[in-house]
Amino acid sequence: MSASLAVIDPATGASLRELRCDDAAGVERIADAARAAQPGWAALTLSERGAPIARFAALLTERREALARLLITDMGKPIAQARRELEATVARVGFFCEHVGAALAERVVHRESGLREVVVPEALGTVLHLSAWNYPWFVAVNTLVPALLTGNAVLYKPSEHATQSGLALVALLHEAGVPRAVVAAVIGAGATGQALLDQPVQGVFFTGSHATGLKVAAAAARRLARVQLELGGKDPVYVCDDADPAAAAAAVADGAFYNNGQSCCAVERVYVHRRIAPAFIDAFVATVDGFRLGDPLDEGTYLGPLARAAQLDVLTAQIADARAKGGRVLRGGARLDRPGNWFAPTVVVDVDHGMELMREETFGPAIGIMVIDDDAQATALMDDTRYGLTAGVYSRDEARARRVLGALRTGSAYWNCCDRVSPRLPWSGRRDSGFGCTLGDEGIAAFTQPRAWHLRSS
Ligand code: NDP
Repeated sequence: MSASLAVIDPATGASLRELRCDDAAGVERIADAARAAQPGWAALTLSERGAPIARFAALLTERREALARLLITDMGKPIAQARRELEATVARVGFFCEHVGAALAERVVHRESGLREVVVPEALGTVLHLSAWNYPWFVAVNTLVPALLTGNAVLYKPSEHATQSGLALVALLHEAGVPRAVVAAVIGAGATGQALLDQPVQGVFFTGSHATGLKVAAAAARRLARVQLELGGKDPVYVCDDADPAAAAAAVADGAFYNNGQSCCAVERVYVHRRIAPAFIDAFVATVDGFRLGDPLDEGTYLGPLARAAQLDVLTAQIADARAKGGRVLRGGARLDRPGNWFAPTVVVDVDHGMELMREETFGPAIGIMVIDDDAQATALMDDTRYGLTAGVYSRDEARARRVLGALRTGSAYWNCCDRVSPRLPWSGRRDSGFGCTLGDEGIAAFTQPRAWHLRSS
């Protein structure tokens, strides 16, 4: 485990500061304290736990601008998108506060002469959240807030690429009144995550890559801890011949390039019906030409730097592979010659499933568009993936869209929308996109376990 983490500005490559990592003894101390504090936290009433969480939301609103600017130095998100993430985070907290009562409600499931059978949901205990950097506020709050509201203690490891935001989030929770031992940020990279997995926790909630998810699941299995894995995707969109090509192109391009394509549910593959393909592709390219790339602190910037330097090589390799196999690069295709992690927004046509660009997660500003002939071909190609996070269909015909989407194995299905997450709906993956869910009522219940009470009065 390294002693410190360097915070590198993704827009310039400059080293901004060093953060001290928790060592193995520190990890153990923090985990012990959380375990000791958890029963007391769980014994509070829901409104006693809810009050500091509501204060946290108020502080988040009050400090939004400073937190948005901090997020930029972490991972390079443009200012307007950073503000939007923080604003929407407050809305998610509101959803959890409103719905947690139902998730914790006792249910009498049977009564007969003197006997009651009652289900009482209760906290799992101490849970671990290993988090991602792409939406650090969303991803952490999806776990931390329902976990805390339901009475769990939480050990939280922010990604090394969003540690400052992770520390700020936990500092706000403490300032709002959540006891320090009940929620703690643990600082470090992958090795620190591994050390946390050695601690006796009752739940492991992971958001990240498939490769790391496999290791996390194996480690958690040794403790029989509940595991949830929110992993990557290769999310497809199909634009039918009855869709408005210009409107669909504008929406799908935004779905592919928002947050520089670094969203788990970013559009990663586009299939367009041959009849409208020329109009769609022209409009798509025109939309991409209109995206302003530049300093993430500028109000008008839509595309900033990539969060991680290493992803530049992944993108470069995917584009080289596509070109070598006949792909035609209409825009971009290379990193930009300037300090920091910059890649030109890239659109590739004449692609097929022999290319990495259409098979492996890109997680950056590059997209392949494939022309297809009918719904059956589109359905087969959309399902030809090991992932299963989201899929979208643009069509005037709901029945047609639902027919295609219904045949796919994904956790979310979009008709005439894409790259969308709602706090009211469960967020989950199929196959290599993981299992378990956050958000929605199901995503609150994930932090509870039922206790069965057999109550006989005589
Ligand atoms: P990683 O898998 O690299 O890391 C995820 C977290 O796990 C980080 O905190 C990381 O620490 C930590 N970690 C790394 N190695 C280990 C280990 N051996 N044991 C324990 N913890 C470890 O993913 P990224 O951070 O790069 O996130 C991007 C990925 O996340 C993409 O694939 C994306 O699709 C997916 N994602 C999925 C979402 C969903 O809802 N399905 C939402 C957001 C992202 P550190 O970073 O400090 O090394």
